Amino acid sequence: MNAPFSYASPTVSVEALKNSIAYKLMFTLGKDPAIANRHEWLNATLFAVRDRMVERWLRSSRAQLSQEVRQVYYLSMEFLIGRTLSNALLSLGIYDEVKSALDEMGLDLEALIDEENDPGLGNGGLGRLAACFLDSLATLQLPGRGYGIRYEYGMFRQNIIDGRQKESPDYWLEYGNPWEFERYNTRYKVRFGGRVQLEGKKTRWVETEEIIAVAHDQIIPGYDTDAANTLRLWRAQASSEINLGKFNQGDYFAAVEDKNHSENVSRVLYPDDSTYSGRELRLRQEYFLVSATVQDILHRHFSLHKTYANLADKIAIHLNDTHPVLSIPELIRLLIDEHKFNWNDAFEVACQVFSYTNHTLMSEALETWPVDMLGKILPRHLQIIFEINDYFLKTLQEQYPNDIGLLSRASIIDESNGRRVRMAWLAVVVSHKVNGVSELHASLMVQSLFADFARIFPTRFCNVTNGVTPRRWLALANPPLSDVLDNNIGHTWRTDLSQLDELKPRLDYPALNEAVREAKLENKRRLAGWLAAHMNMVVNPNALFDVQIKRIHEYKRQLMNVLHVITRYNRIKADPDADWVPRVVIFAGKAASAYYMARHIIHFINDVSRVINNDPVINDRLKVVFIPDYSVSLAQLIIPAADLSEQISLAGTEASGTSNMKFALNGALTIGTLDGANVEIREHVGKENIFIFGNTAKEVEQLRARGYSPREYYDSDEELRQALTQAGTGVFSPDEPERYRDLVDSLLNFGDRYQVLADYRSYVDCQDKVDALYRQPELWASSAMHNIANMGYFSSDRTIQEYAKQIWHIDPVRL
Ligand SMILES: *Cc1c(COP(=O)(O)O)cnc(C)c1O
Repeated sequence: MNAPFSYASPTVSVEALKNSIAYKLMFTLGKDPAIANRHEWLNATLFAVRDRMVERWLRSSRAQLSQEVRQVYYLSMEFLIGRTLSNALLSLGIYDEVKSALDEMGLDLEALIDEENDPGLGNGGLGRLAACFLDSLATLQLPGRGYGIRYEYGMFRQNIIDGRQKESPDYWLEYGNPWEFERYNTRYKVRFGGRVQLEGKKTRWVETEEIIAVAHDQIIPGYDTDAANTLRLWRAQASSEINLGKFNQGDYFAAVEDKNHSENVSRVLYPDDSTYSGRELRLRQEYFLVSATVQDILHRHFSLHKTYANLADKIAIHLNDTHPVLSIPELIRLLIDEHKFNWNDAFEVACQVFSYTNHTLMSEALETWPVDMLGKILPRHLQIIFEINDYFLKTLQEQYPNDIGLLSRASIIDESNGRRVRMAWLAVVVSHKVNGVSELHASLMVQSLFADFARIFPTRFCNVTNGVTPRRWLALANPPLSDVLDNNIGHTWRTDLSQLDELKPRLDYPALNEAVREAKLENKRRLAGWLAAHMNMVVNPNALFDVQIKRIHEYKRQLMNVLHVITRYNRIKADPDADWVPRVVIFAGKAASAYYMARHIIHFINDVSRVINNDPVINDRLKVVFIPDYSVSLAQLIIPAADLSEQISLAGTEASGTSNMKFALNGALTIGTLDGANVEIREHVGKENIFIFGNTAKEVEQLRARGYSPREYYDSDEELRQALTQAGTGVFSPDEPERYRDLVDSLLNFGDRYQVLADYRSYVDCQDKVDALYRQPELWASSAMHNIANMGYFSSDRTIQEYAKQIWHIDPVRL
């Protein structure tokens, strides 16, 4: 593999690097180079590289402090940052030097890079978005910090056993985490439970249990700049190492058990994506994050300014979905109970400081907590939430005296549903801006979920379309294509992706067309090699690589993809000697462990794959692969090798999507519905360069209102009927013919909630158009080039600049 481009003339010599790597191995790891294993060399290299980052990091922090600039704090329960070594080498511009240094010591940089654990501290798109945002904040020299939880176990590891998903814990800290700095002195008490007591006019929260949050900092390097930011993750520590009472009574085990109980708060990431689970430990985790974070923000602010009077001028706190919404009552509580604010002032400050991103309109994902549970764990916060609600409803009543239903609809407390706190409502009421993540999602947001609030707060809602960082998703993931770009438009697209525009005059150059095809083939060969080595799976690199990799969810409609695969299989079987375009259909993605239907879909994909891949009639005209344990690292491997990007969610369900952007940027053509950011991708690349099919969001609504009847589609479409009959009668599960009866039932007899049958025909016909274009490689590549050249808009640098201007009001720091 070629090395990523280095922007900097080396300021570090290969000789110096060799010395520091060997030095770290011996004096930090205490290891003899003669017997060190690959992990130890990796860690030594990480330490050596980290050293070269620290100076600029400290300088950045100092600049942020001394210029007393307004800061943004980005709160997220998930950060899916991916591996750090390769990204750090890219940022520092020392990839080649480190490679040579390791070479001379008989070590292979690529092999070390692959050895690094990929920390899975997130579920999917939401966590990855937070990571792209940190990368862009640093690269743009914007003063910001991420705050999250240092889960001991991230996302589970996914194994496929007999076609089924099996989870195992991912102890990503197995070999230590050389990239982090533990801040033994940055620790805060986080309290739970107890009761509220009035003492005169002062409210006290007493008899609480306590745990300690300990800060762990990671450097987030900017690219081609001396700026670096911080991601601060909190780890839970028992407030007293052992419970002395119990210890004295001789019950050693119970004492240690208590300690474990407290530390459970940062033990494990909840593996739910786009669903709400509502368990008490999750509520504790959310409060743990926000309490430590808000205390830290206030502490930092006060040590700098010696007053809280200018708080709203100096800080912006951003909530990535509703998960950190408890930071609102937490800030108000601290200002009133600890810092002598009156209620109105505290509320006003909160309204100016907070902003919130909505990530979903689907009811099953909206967070609500039972009033009882919140009152038990956070009695003071519940009280504050009620005060916010009373104040809000009072002004509402004055404003809209004749709107009878409005008060109960807009109330933060949902009385109709066993008394629950609606976290999204709380976020909207106490934020100055609420944004959606694509044009379509933002407009649906104010028409549906937040329709009342859009009337009450007409200027509060806006859109900031998501983006992805071109550093990780192009420069790191796709060296062959990066080379082609460097040779044609120079190398500064890495920090200004709009420069991809400069490809436009060249789009009909045959040499460029060929270079782009060559780059794609090289990436496909790399993936084919990986599949052979890791899955014992042989695929033809010249086949069309058709890829759907993302969380497994009914709304994303992996099932519709499989129905197309089965249809294609049937067609080939019926006429094996016709001239078929060979395809490799690739799936990857994890199912929430408690989500039966999603796990069942994984099983189905694997069963279909086994039958098709072992059918001697088919050969390499069709192959189906499910790649286990999807992660950022796998995405970096798979996406550059894709010809076709499957973005086929039911219109109106995917808020934005970001893998759709990564694929198009890497020269895959999209087959997709008019959902999320697909709509804007179509506007940018042109409708002749994207395969759009299916009902629009409006048509989906109309169909639902009319009374959607999936059976009509089944009755009138023979290919569809055949595929569903095969699935339901065990053609792909001969050992258990009834296995997928329920899956078929969910479509045919239980409403087909995501309208798979309604879009099936249009999808399959669209796939035929895909084949037709793939038969003309120059035309296909030309269309891919139109995609690449028009993807500049989808850089997370553009996204972050919009947040900085419209929402956070922050400016770059001078270094
Ligand atoms: C980009 C990315 C996602 C988001 O994918 P969508 O298809 O937009 O849902 C999820 N997981 C990983 C590892 C990613 O890199």
